[in-house]
Amino acid sequence: MIALRRSPPIIENVIPRRYHRLKQVLDRRQPDLTVLTEDVHKPHNLSAIIRTCDAVGIFEVHSVNVTAELPTFSQVSQGSEKWVFLNTHPDTKTAINYLKQQNFKVYAAHFSSQSLDYRQIDYTQPSAIIFGAEKWGVTQEAAQLADEHIIIPMLGMVQSLNVSVAAAVILFEAQRQRLAAQLYDNVRLDSETYHRVLFEWGYPEIAEICRQKGKPYPTLGDDGQIKE
Ligand code: SAM
Repeated sequence: MIALRRSPPIIENVIPRRYHRLKQVLDRRQPDLTVLTEDVHKPHNLSAIIRTCDAVGIFEVHSVNVTAELPTFSQVSQGSEKWVFLNTHPDTKTAINYLKQQNFKVYAAHFSSQSLDYRQIDYTQPSAIIFGAEKWGVTQEAAQLADEHIIIPMLGMVQSLNVSVAAAVILFEAQRQRLAAQLYDNVRLDSETYHRVLFEWGYPEIAEICRQKGKPYPTLGDDGQIKE
């Protein structure tokens, strides 16, 4: 019997235009700005928040889903969940402690007697913003653990905004401040993360094979072609 040999997988190099686009996006990612969603469980809201995070340059979003299943996405995301990492935590306390250990100042978007206008905050400093569940808002535990509470002033009949709208308003203020401080002008990710993620975005299937085999990712040439 003739033994059939499997041919090695054909490596299709990422096209240079796409590679430079991926680099452009990574060049602007802001590892010190993030969001924690606390039981935001409607897929279209989570998707809209992730899409805003991508637009603002957020690298990683954190999520706690105590009452809900694992987060799912709707078409509202436009695929942005592929470009923003989602780090899920088992509970609120673990998530907030993790963020504090990473040196983030933690803000809860939450109505309380001590709430500050969201425009008073300096978002050029490491900032994590908690957004609460559609119906109940931020939990008491999260409100207590947060360093500050912030609100978008509401001057009409309705007491709150949709959670994804509130996230957009606050995150684009953070983007405005960071643009003014030129924080998008230089790469902010550390070199190891930058090159790892660039490879994973450009070559997801090969990255998966390398991970399964415990092999390092191949190095890339100037136009993103695999060198080895
Ligand atoms: N009844 C809830 C409450 O009292 O918090 C309303 C929840 S609201 C629909 C969902 C989340 O959106 C809130 O937990 C908060 O994080 C955010 N949010 C909505 N409107 C906001 C505003 N005006 N200022 C700050 N955050 C807001």
